Amino acid sequence: MADEYDYHKMWGDLGMDVEAHDGLLGVVGEMYQTMFLTQKNRPASTSYLDGVAANLHSGRIREMVDGRSEGNPKKIIGSFCLYVPEEVVTAAGAVEVGLCAGAEWAPEDAERYVPRNTCPLIKGFMGFKLGRVCPYIESADLVVGENTCDGKKKAYEQFSKLKPMYIMDVPHVRNDDTKLQWRHQVHALAARIEEETGQKITEESLRAAIKLANDKRRALQRLSATRAADPVPISGLDCLLTVQAAFMDDSARLTGAINQMADECEKRAAEGIGAAPKGAKRILYTGTPMAVPNWKLFNIIEKAGGVVVGEECCTGSRYYKDLVPEDGATVDEMLDDIADRYLNIQCAIFTPNQGRRDDVIRMARELHADGIIDASLSFCTIYEMEAFDMEKAAQEAGIPYMHLSTDYSAEGDGQLTTRIQAFLEMI
Ligand code: SF4
Ligand code: SF4
Repeated sequence: MADEYDYHKMWGDLGMDVEAHDGLLGVVGEMYQTMFLTQKNRPASTSYLDGVAANLHSGRIREMVDGRSEGNPKKIIGSFCLYVPEEVVTAAGAVEVGLCAGAEWAPEDAERYVPRNTCPLIKGFMGFKLGRVCPYIESADLVVGENTCDGKKKAYEQFSKLKPMYIMDVPHVRNDDTKLQWRHQVHALAARIEEETGQKITEESLRAAIKLANDKRRALQRLSATRAADPVPISGLDCLLTVQAAFMDDSARLTGAINQMADECEKRAAEGIGAAPKGAKRILYTGTPMAVPNWKLFNIIEKAGGVVVGEECCTGSRYYKDLVPEDGATVDEMLDDIADRYLNIQCAIFTPNQGRRDDVIRMARELHADGIIDASLSFCTIYEMEAFDMEKAAQEAGIPYMHLSTDYSAEGDGQLTTRIQAFLEMI
């Protein structure tokens, strides 16, 4: 990208509040500097992530918006949830971007649409939209929401007054009936995206889209496997950002970068080179998703001398642990395969949700975690509820466990740090 490109004009053309956005970029840039660039012994290949962070609101948006003016992608589709299958969007010639907000913005404006006691992620995306500071929201042609938690499904009634939306109905139990209902939802999404882009999904385009997403997931699986080593070759912060990037960056380019990171981390693991010292306390994270720039918990854990070795959440293993079969013969068969793969995402909206506890314990063992930190964003009832059985599962497995509730403000950070330090000393 040429340095002289006028991003302020681009943001203004998107209808953004350019001055307020400059303020946001300044704050996030400082956070990145303090949290990421102060890390010691990072793999050299993580420099790709620095580029992603630097270009998140500039070069990447330009790439998509310029591309759209030439018909590639035909449309930009925003989403807030792992349940919106990117394969379907890609196969119809569009690009899917994540819109979840990981910071508080314009909370007073957001509270004109959602109650004060709303989870910060929801309040964040309402505030980002109302404050006009997110180029992903502003450039999206259509936003696909989903009936998952109560907070999101009601907030979408408000958000749809501000942006064109299409809502998918996600089941909350898994049985033969809901499997069929969910397949129907995925087929209906395909029809809606085809209508939006004017491009038919073909066997060829859907097969290619499945492979593109699977390649990214395979690369993430490789990188994740290297984190079983002691010392751990890469920090939790860098791995978190890698998955966050998967919701925004170009898929093929990111896959190449993740494979390079995996190559380097495999080599570092074999040579005993770590991003944290050998014997550092190893934490498995589980809980609510962490959208950019919500890095604070991982930063606190790792600055306190621990290291995050895995994350069982939507900005972690749930994104990449399962692949879609690549041998579907027809578009209908492939859409069914996609639906079945996505129905297996262990979100706390499901009841019962034993699979999530099984995944957490399995990951803790495979990655040799010394302890589990289970964190919920405040006012997220479903993850708070699951914490009771999660604690029991950890106790039965003999793995130390801590539950935290947190939000996007820095107010409780001192107390959070003290609790985490105490947990790291105890395990
Ligand atoms: S936690 Fe549940 S509702 Fe939230 S992004 Fe993940 S699947 Fe969607
Ligand atoms: S963190 Fe909880 S309350 Fe917030 S959007 Fe996700 S599932 Fe809903």
